[in-house]
Amino acid sequence: MPFRALGLGNHILKAIGDAGYTEPTPIQKEAIPLILAGHDLIGIAQTGTGKTAAFVLPMLVKLDRSAAGPRRGTRALVVAPTRELVVQIDENARAYGKYVSMRMATVYGGVGERPQIDALRAGADIVIATPGRLLDLTGRRYGDFSGLEFLVLDEADRMLDMGFLPQIRQIVRTLPKDRQTMLFSASLSSEIESITREFLRNPKLVQIGRRANPAETVTQFVYEVPMHLKPALLAHLLKDPQMNMVLVFTRTKHGADRVARRLSQMNVPSATLHSNKSQGQRLRALKDFKSGAARVLVATDIAARGIDVDGISHVVNFDFPPHPEDYVHRIGRTGRAHAVGDAISFVTPEDHGALRSLERFIGRGVVRKRAEGFDYGAAAPPRQPGFGGRRDFGRGGHGGRGERRAVPGDKPAGAGGSQRRRRRHGGGRQGGSGGGPGSAKPPKKAKGWWPWSR
Ligand code: AMP
Repeated sequence: MPFRALGLGNHILKAIGDAGYTEPTPIQKEAIPLILAGHDLIGIAQTGTGKTAAFVLPMLVKLDRSAAGPRRGTRALVVAPTRELVVQIDENARAYGKYVSMRMATVYGGVGERPQIDALRAGADIVIATPGRLLDLTGRRYGDFSGLEFLVLDEADRMLDMGFLPQIRQIVRTLPKDRQTMLFSASLSSEIESITREFLRNPKLVQIGRRANPAETVTQFVYEVPMHLKPALLAHLLKDPQMNMVLVFTRTKHGADRVARRLSQMNVPSATLHSNKSQGQRLRALKDFKSGAARVLVATDIAARGIDVDGISHVVNFDFPPHPEDYVHRIGRTGRAHAVGDAISFVTPEDHGALRSLERFIGRGVVRKRAEGFDYGAAAPPRQPGFGGRRDFGRGGHGGRGERRAVPGDKPAGAGGSQRRRRRHGGGRQGGSGGGPGSAKPPKKAKGWWPWSR
């Protein structure tokens, strides 16, 4: 189905063409006609499915059609959990709306409020905001939302996780009841169902993919490794030039800094993304990662929300996520927009319970691999401030002796695993050919979007 069949209008179609999109993704196919018809909508879809365009495109069409009348303040409000996501939605909305006349403003914390106040005063048609700063500014009566036509709650599940519900309630209370509301979430929990009853009216439900199933375009592996060998294993794996654009997840900000320090000792260019960084530092880290100046981006879960970077070759769970939902979000960063990518998880004996929960959650086992040529017998180094000490990577509560044990569940990698990986990566990703990270794009997957949704 071409975009033209969705009734988007020439201005928007032209911008979509400029963005290089040839056909709508499943969530776009289903959600766009419903939004254009004026329905409230619950979209259950993970990041990477094209959900941003699914709500931005029809909203732009409707705002553009009714733009002739008198303008009164802000007409569309998008609320999202993190500043990175806000910046990304704004970038997308500007690209999709480049041929329509629409004023947009972003509102988020960590930066000076004056330009945001000015933008609200000037009467932005579309405001994209995080809940905290928005409430702060609207509480001081900046912005006019009395004529609001659209409200979008993006990544609502994450906003609930982050404790934003009270702020969201306060914001929604001040908005006109006669509006169109869209809520997006990666999963449909009972909490999400209850807030949809609170904020939406007779919503239509669009669900893409089986609930919480990771992208099937992503090849997943587990490396069982004692705690103290995680940094060495990361260093070992990074010798593979195919790992050219790598997103590494750590559990804590300090863990992220330590991994980054180790990478810099190895002369691997990296950047870090976590909430102790200033907004400028975070934007620079993303820019360096996108441009290839940083081969590795080390991030915590919260900071990585909303990362939209094409061509990530590998996601590494340096620390295994305790919640399966986080695993699904993390690995959703690779395998985006038809690409294939590998998700690698380091699993210590302490993580076995979480791994089993994950496998039950996604309904299948994850292939165990053993790194060829890696010294699994290396003793734990003495405690040192830089790397490898208990405090660095431990979760607490377990003795150091367990870390030095041979890893019980280690199995040799099946030949199928590595063959599959070679086949998926194809011959086009010879990272050593001098092309650098930017030039080594993963091959396209012929099957198209989210195969399980058919
Ligand atoms: P999202 O799920 O909104 O974060 O989008 C994931 C990625 O898919 C972004 O890089 C978008 O630019 C891209 N994208 C969105 N819609 C399409 C489409 N119809 N065709 C190709 N790429 C798309």
